Amino acid sequence: ITRRIGYAGSFDEVGRLAMTLDRMLDRLSAAFEHERRFTADASHELRTPLAVIKGRIGVTLSQNRTPEEYQATLQALEYEVDRLIRLANGLLFLTRLEQETIQFQQIDLSELLSILVEQFQMMAEPRNILLTDNIEPELMIAGNADYLTNVFLNLLDNAIKYTPDGGKVTVKAQPQAEQVYIRVSNSGKGIAPENLPHLFKRFYRVEADRSRHTGGTGLGLAIAYEIVRLHKGTITVESEVNQTTTFTVSLPLKV
Ligand code: ADP
Repeated sequence: ITRRIGYAGSFDEVGRLAMTLDRMLDRLSAAFEHERRFTADASHELRTPLAVIKGRIGVTLSQNRTPEEYQATLQALEYEVDRLIRLANGLLFLTRLEQETIQFQQIDLSELLSILVEQFQMMAEPRNILLTDNIEPELMIAGNADYLTNVFLNLLDNAIKYTPDGGKVTVKAQPQAEQVYIRVSNSGKGIAPENLPHLFKRFYRVEADRSRHTGGTGLGLAIAYEIVRLHKGTITVESEVNQTTTFTVSLPLKV
């Protein structure tokens, strides 16, 4: 889009109109660029599992295989198809989030968090992960319970996923100056400082985690960021390598 219409610097009617138009064009061009990147990134992410699937099928069909080999191929295909489904669902959800106006109700965040922590004990125990919480009761906020559940489910799922066996995960929720601060921390190898600024971008995954078979999509934190933003809150991350990683969400309290 060609930008910069003349008249800048002139404050008569035409000059002001030109500046308004210029700003509108800037916004439009940013929106187009956003769309273009989104489509390009999404296509790239969808092609990778499809290429793996195609490759495995080709190799398996090229020779006679034992039943065990067929079985192994089918399992690998199932893993990739599951990842594709998660990617498609995540993409659809992100796109909807950008368009929808969401319904807010009064919610007891303390209850929402306690229920989630309780549910995650089942995932922590078999891996000897100590999952504890310190949640102040009756933290009331205006929000969407389904969407907020999605945020904290993602943070807890990551915390457990990226903690080694025998590690520690804690969830804290405390009010401070008309905000509630929710902190989800986990022990482990942490996140290198150069990766921290990118974590909330869609599809971003730390290199070492891409090769590990965690089945991740890199969309979880981008979705969390968008939901928190819709609630007029913030989400940040701090990490000390080989110590602790903490994600902090702040949300306005309903006073
Ligand atoms: P994924 O589906 O890969 O988990 P997310 O958007 O939830 O996608 O997270 C993006 C990346 O951030 C992950 O791939 C991982 O590299 C890193 N990450 C997220 N949470 C943690 C954590 N608690 N500890 C270490 N790394 C994390």
